[in-house]
Amino acid sequence: MIILLGIYTIKRYSKPLNNLIFSFNALKDGKYKKIEPHNYGEEFQEMVIVYNNTIERLKKEYNDLEEAADIDSLTGAYNRRAFNKFLSTLKQEMSNCGLGRVGALLLDIDNFKKLNDTSGHLAGDNVLKNLAEIMKSSAGDRSVFRFGGDEFAVVIRNISDERLLSIAEAIRLKCEETLNGCTVSIGAAKFPKDTYSIDKLIDFADKALYISKKSRNKVTIFVK
Ligand code: GH3
Ligand code: MG
Repeated sequence: MIILLGIYTIKRYSKPLNNLIFSFNALKDGKYKKIEPHNYGEEFQEMVIVYNNTIERLKKEYNDLEEAADIDSLTGAYNRRAFNKFLSTLKQEMSNCGLGRVGALLLDIDNFKKLNDTSGHLAGDNVLKNLAEIMKSSAGDRSVFRFGGDEFAVVIRNISDERLLSIAEAIRLKCEETLNGCTVSIGAAKFPKDTYSIDKLIDFADKALYISKKSRNKVTIFVK
């Protein structure tokens, strides 16, 4: 009788308690593991449901925070941190032999300091926001990154050379027409046509941007 009672107690309390402790410990290590709610007595069932709901909410809040940490608060574009993460993903895919074509544009506003000086910082901020919108609508929300200041990058996967050039030209033209008298200079480079290195891709786009900056309001495609 005592043995049976012992077995019953272990089944009813010990195992569920161990599962709960295991899950709480996983949580301590940052792992959001739900607990299977079956086979528990009523008194544990409720605890498990509350725990699982909390895990669900924490997971969502964690994801929201991760997303927010990747976004530039002024323009809504992805920030430098997100850019670096994205480059790492591309490099990883490349080493797994799974990376298709990638097009990169680097973009810098022309004479932006002058606009800040003559029209004020708020007007400058509006230009940055509008520029980000122009780039997003031309290249897609997920392709636009703010490097900092008045410098942006657009990185697009699976894109032909012609399409990359036409997106760059469309951005340049739209800025010329609508950006409060501001223009942009753009440099473009392509993977794997120009290079098999993702770092060099960005470097080459930067070199092309440097050439555009000599005359401004211009798109330059990198040539070796
Ligand atoms: P260039 O044609 O050679 O690019 O000249 P520029 O005047 O645009 O010079 P540069 O790109 O070096 O300067 C960027 C300026 O952007 C400097 C800084 O005052 C301004 N800036 C940087 N971040 C912000 C911002 O968040 N808001 C505003 N309004 N201005 C910013
Ligand atoms: Mg500038």
